[in-house]
Amino acid sequence: MAKSQLRPGLTLIATPIGNASDITLRSLDALRDADALVAEDTRVARRLMDLHGVSLGGRPLIAYHDHNAGAALPRILALLHEGQRVVFLSDAGTPMVADPGYRLAKLAIDEGIPLGATPGPCAAIMALTLAGLPSDRFTFAGFPPPKSEARRRFLRELALIPSTLLLYESPKRLAASLADMAEVFGPREAAVARELTKMFEETRRAPLDVLAQAYAEEGAPKGEVVIVIAPPAAPEPAGEGDIDEALRMALETMTVKDAVKTVSIALDLPRKQVYDRALVLRDE
Ligand code: SAM
Repeated sequence: MAKSQLRPGLTLIATPIGNASDITLRSLDALRDADALVAEDTRVARRLMDLHGVSLGGRPLIAYHDHNAGAALPRILALLHEGQRVVFLSDAGTPMVADPGYRLAKLAIDEGIPLGATPGPCAAIMALTLAGLPSDRFTFAGFPPPKSEARRRFLRELALIPSTLLLYESPKRLAASLADMAEVFGPREAAVARELTKMFEETRRAPLDVLAQAYAEEGAPKGEVVIVIAPPAAPEPAGEGDIDEALRMALETMTVKDAVKTVSIALDLPRKQVYDRALVLRDE
């Protein structure tokens, strides 16, 4: 059997998001070889290890979540400073993606402790791969606030980002959240990816307003969901009429040179194109 590659320090382990088989060989090796294990929920970690025949033996299994970080961190750091190989796993998917792990990882970095990770499942990335929406640039925005007013404020901050958006949402808020998204973003193409890697996995693709109405009529779906939203449409390039109008206004108070510069920046057009139009207007 290959010698363990797990190094001293902290290793973040990605775990399945529904289908227990979605765990890499390297993650299983890390769970097997670690000197100490840290988990968001120790019962969930034990269940996963049992399923894959990894025994805990006499190794420490420490709970670490948002509410006990103050008490758990010193113990974990002490193990790391002793040069132990410590793994951390959240309940499902990739640690730190809408899950605990950030403070622990940051402390490790700050204290010069080596940090590693075994990559694996992440619901947002799987939803992106299934959505059929542009994937060259995307923004993961976590969970929107639960109350509508705060949610709309949050969405307005995202409205102009020129990338696909990925959001997590609870099924009971899905319809209300989609309705707010349709209102703030307009009828952009979107997808709701549900129960990924599980028996009733489903991806629905439709404009936001259509999805909002469908879920409002059907009621809250069962299981977990990711919302994926297309980027805003690129603004129409300025036409000749827009250039002339902007130039006429600018030329009332500016030299040709300054007017061309101002208009080409404002309309995001090549200076040469605006300059040619400015000469025509000046000679008219
Ligand atoms: N760390 C996880 C990851 O890498 O995806 C996310 C954890 S976050 C606490 C849980 C949220 O992720 C759920 O509310 C849902 O929005 C999304 N999620 C997790 N598993 C999912 C699945 N199997 N199908 C769809 N969404 C899922």
